[in-house]
Amino acid sequence: MKIDVVLGLQWGDEGKGKIVDLLAKKYPVVCRFQGGGNAGHSIHFGKQSFVLHLIPSGVFRKNTINLIGNGVVLDPVIFKKECEALKKLGIDATQNVIISKKTHLILPTHRLLDAANEAAKGKEKIGSTLNGIGPAYTDKTGRCGIRVGDILERDFKKRYYTLKLKHEALLKQLDYKCDTNTNEKEWLNACAYLKKFRIVDGEYELNALLKRRRVLAEGAQGSMLDIDFGSYPFVTSSSTVCAGVCTGLGVAPSAIGKVYGIFKAYCTRVGSGPFPTELNDATGEHLRQKGNEFGATTGRPRRTGWLDLPALKYAIMISGVTELIMTKADILTGFKKIKVATAYIVDDKTEGGKIKETDQIPFSSDCTVKPLYKEFKGWDQNISKVRNFKELPQELKDYIKFIERELSVPIKIISVGADRNAIIEVKS
Ligand code: GDP
Repeated sequence: MKIDVVLGLQWGDEGKGKIVDLLAKKYPVVCRFQGGGNAGHSIHFGKQSFVLHLIPSGVFRKNTINLIGNGVVLDPVIFKKECEALKKLGIDATQNVIISKKTHLILPTHRLLDAANEAAKGKEKIGSTLNGIGPAYTDKTGRCGIRVGDILERDFKKRYYTLKLKHEALLKQLDYKCDTNTNEKEWLNACAYLKKFRIVDGEYELNALLKRRRVLAEGAQGSMLDIDFGSYPFVTSSSTVCAGVCTGLGVAPSAIGKVYGIFKAYCTRVGSGPFPTELNDATGEHLRQKGNEFGATTGRPRRTGWLDLPALKYAIMISGVTELIMTKADILTGFKKIKVATAYIVDDKTEGGKIKETDQIPFSSDCTVKPLYKEFKGWDQNISKVRNFKELPQELKDYIKFIERELSVPIKIISVGADRNAIIEVKS
């Protein structure tokens, strides 16, 4: 069997939670392959809603196996809280969540280092969620991190205190005043709690499962935040593109099947970094309020703007996306005009200030980028109850068909509301 992949194609917050929840029913195994507890996948069912940070979205289905892969960095405290919140909904995560031994742990001092690093950067700050994710990945590549499997070792505490000492020296160097013992007890308790779960050799477990079951790999954040291909340095610390599935779970590239790419009908971005189609005006504010564009984890207002086709084409190219899913189409209802960026005029400082028209993402994060737009007529009809493509307003159909043509990938699902059922499956 193949492993299908679902990715956000923009800067995160594309509505992946709801879509993975929808897709998960077709997959008996769902995996997270990168990122940490900074993901905020919101799932709404009827009047209830739940935000998942670390646990794969298949957790709501009793018989689905949910694997936290080696590419993830796991904060045991966040994990425990999430499991306890699930318990209140009657879901016992110990029964259907398994964790790879090679998953790296986030320590309380990683969080402190995150804050110290951001403080040291001053105005140049990246806009980190301060969850310790960046420093944990730094320790992973620095070959001094500790992993979930280490919890089962006798000298686990010794390993913890050795790394803590190293962090204390770094914090001192950064002249960051803090108490490194805060949250230590809670963290050690949460590490002990992890032992209630099946801690596995994730790569063996998954490859064995793949022989007989369909597997879905669930991406967090978005392709434009990828450590290699995002707008560096304003990126996350992990591989958010399809290639990250192979290293983050231990599966071969030839095992990859479908690649679902999720994008919002417009764009949002949290934190600093380039955002060519950003709207710093009343239209942008209207998008923010109407789309409730405030971080699910942090509550931070998101930056908003029109859809950016060069960025989408780039994400599709890097991950080999085979089908597209558009979310939040309903939020565009009521706008008189809707714009889509088809290319950029770039003033590239790395090329001596050469001004050119392009549909490629410029290398430098500080060149001036002016989008070239195609304009569409809006619609007023409420589409949140529509379940059939034919019944959508003609203006929206034109908008969708244009995007599909430009991207040369079919749009298979259109999401028209926050609820689980607010979905149009497009028949080809
Ligand atoms: P994720 O991190 O990609 O999962 O994104 P979020 O969980 O932050 O999703 C953004 C928000 O949009 C959540 O509250 C979703 O329930 C909601 N949402 C998802 N799809 C739609 C949609 O089509 N329309 C509307 N109005 N809300 C949606």
